[in-house]
Amino acid sequence: MKRQLETLKKIQDLSLTRAECTARGENAPAEALTKEISALAETLEQRVLALYTRLSATRPLFLSAMHNGKCSGCGMQVPVASARMVRMAAHLVTCTTCGRILYDNAGAVASSRKVEDVDDENVSKVRGIARFSSAELMVPSLKAATMEEAIAELSNAMATGGFVSDGEALARLALEREAVLTTRMEAGVAVPHVRGVEGGSLAFSLGISKEGIVWDDSGEKVNFIVLSAIPSAGSAFFLKLMSDLMAVFRRKAGRAALLEAVDSASLWAALDKATNRTIR
Ligand SMILES: [Zn+2]
Repeated sequence: MKRQLETLKKIQDLSLTRAECTARGENAPAEALTKEISALAETLEQRVLALYTRLSATRPLFLSAMHNGKCSGCGMQVPVASARMVRMAAHLVTCTTCGRILYDNAGAVASSRKVEDVDDENVSKVRGIARFSSAELMVPSLKAATMEEAIAELSNAMATGGFVSDGEALARLALEREAVLTTRMEAGVAVPHVRGVEGGSLAFSLGISKEGIVWDDSGEKVNFIVLSAIPSAGSAFFLKLMSDLMAVFRRKAGRAALLEAVDSASLWAALDKATNRTIR
């Protein structure tokens, strides 16, 4: 059953990537992904295929990571007996609350702190971009000359700041995601990301390369790189956050303000200012 679960994970990743394409109006890569998904689904055992078909018809996330004994899809505690079966992965277990297929998240790269480490009573005070990032995650001049180095540098910032448990694993997974389909957008922006980073909130780091970094086979350079670690619960919100950030990168004044920043603190201040109307 482990292999079936691996296939389901791949299908879910590709489906989410397809949703990103569709949101950006990129139809050709979306169609290619649909073919890839169908080919993978054909390799599933009949019973697994039936369950996948039923679940995926109504929800984009049909799989859910079990993190610290909880279903990350709905947040409910998984009963002890079921949790043991999820860890053994001998057969498929679904969440009794939300119905998603559960898989064991142990050993995966996890989010190790909330963006703002505040207690629940104070959480409402955190506003705007501070819900997703922090000054220590701003890299105003990347040392990186390649896409791989840029992803490693930003992953390292996330790990050093304590936002993810394992920076190297985050970088590796982000590169695997790039291999499926480039995350380069218009306006010299790339948005590498890793989904299924459970345990905390959606977090991103921002790196700037004034010279630009060739990102993919197109040979086009990017100047702004946003690396995100996305928990299942933040999956849909990620698309909205990226579209809000893109609105800043597309504006000449927005870009200029970010490019002028000389250190992490001034980049953070510029990003906060540029997003204070859109991201609340
Ligand atoms: Zn659930």
